[in-house]
Amino acid sequence: MELSHENQLLLETTKRFVEEEIIPHEELVDQLGEVPEEIGRQIETKSKEIGLFAANLPEEVGGGGLDYAGQMLIEREFGKTSHALHAWAARPTEILLAGTEAQKEKYLYPCVSGEKRELFGLTEPEAGSDIMSMKSNARRDGDDWILNGSKHFISGPVMPDFAIVFAQTGVDETKRGPRKRVTAFLVDVGTKGFDIAIGAKCVSYRGYHTFRLNFSDVRLGPDQILGEEGKGLELAGQWLGMGRIWIGASCCGKAERMFDLSSDWAANRKQFGQQIGKFQSTSFKLADMAIEMRAAELMVQDAVMRADNEQMTDSDAAMVKVYCSEMLNRVADNTVQIFGGMGLMEEMPIQRLWRDSRLERIWDGTSEIQRHIISRAILRPLGA
Ligand SMILES: Cc1cc2nc3c(=O)[nH]c(=O)nc-3n(C[C@H](O)[C@H](O)[C@H](O)COP(=O)(O)OP(=O)(O)OC[C@H]3O[C@@H](n4cnc5c(N)ncnc54)[C@H](O)[C@@H]3O)c2cc1C
Repeated sequence: MELSHENQLLLETTKRFVEEEIIPHEELVDQLGEVPEEIGRQIETKSKEIGLFAANLPEEVGGGGLDYAGQMLIEREFGKTSHALHAWAARPTEILLAGTEAQKEKYLYPCVSGEKRELFGLTEPEAGSDIMSMKSNARRDGDDWILNGSKHFISGPVMPDFAIVFAQTGVDETKRGPRKRVTAFLVDVGTKGFDIAIGAKCVSYRGYHTFRLNFSDVRLGPDQILGEEGKGLELAGQWLGMGRIWIGASCCGKAERMFDLSSDWAANRKQFGQQIGKFQSTSFKLADMAIEMRAAELMVQDAVMRADNEQMTDSDAAMVKVYCSEMLNRVADNTVQIFGGMGLMEEMPIQRLWRDSRLERIWDGTSEIQRHIISRAILRPLGA
């Protein structure tokens, strides 16, 4: 993909930022299982200075106004490193753009300036892939809504100021039977009945927190609905599609980092009197990695072009997510194999990149769910 002059500069700036401001802290954060506040703040400040903070949002709302190609470049570079760290250079959820002017004042603009942080709360303990089985619900009480239920695995770098929470607000009769109406609510941390705590620790991206959210008779005004009542999933869907492309880009970045480490090791580590790269079982691994990485890059670039032309489908996004995340896991496994025992030693970054890679096949919809989306797009038009 030919880069514009602006995107070429953006790429160089982001590379430098990752190398100088993020990578040096990776090992410490992995060991501590958290990002020391001063390091997080430093990343936040620096990313604001160089225009990477909220770069995904349009200039009209104070964001960086990056086009899709620009966003792809930063996600690819950030993918090389720890999510716990680069998340401090926030990319606030685009669905906040769907808010009213008053909601933008209260939630969106403070996220763009870094005064507030949000969480995106869809997943529940009993409703992961099967999101329509969600139990969180809100019932009307006069003009207000009363929210009950819980969420888990809702992730972010720091304790947030508010959460975008998806809850059932009724049932629609459709041709295919009853279907839950799902609505997105903006819920401030500190609201009576809303409890939030750091949840289980994840071995991927240590230091990137998952939160547990509990709602017990939380009273919400009508002005706390984001978008339209009953249209929450459509709203979430608009954001999830591009999110899957950004995961694809990030997988390409991480794969490149591991490939570079593997090639270097294969060219220098000697056994039986020669470099291990001279053994075909090693060199062919590198060749396979290179082929798959090229294919993944092209898929991401193709999806970005489709998105630019407003032609990207859910199936396109699912293909990128499943292929790039699985490519990354094959690259990660081959990298550990090429490094042998050293690949599993804590003093090397390989084991951490391998652990981090594993999550990519799970969050934002598992590989199985992506295949479900793709296969439905193939078979539904044929009546199957
Ligand atoms: C670190 C982390 C951060 C996260 N951040 C967020 C966040 O910020 N916000 C948010 O809302 N969620 C978040 N999630 C949740 C994430 O999106 C879910 O974990 C994911 O969608 C899978 O749900 P589950 O874990 O409940 O697995 P399950 O749905 O229980 O799936 C278990 C297994 O069954 C398979 N399976 C399920 N249904 C089918 C089917 N129909 N066909 C074939 N196989 C199937 C799955 O593919 C998987 O292999 C996060 C998760 C993690 C681990």
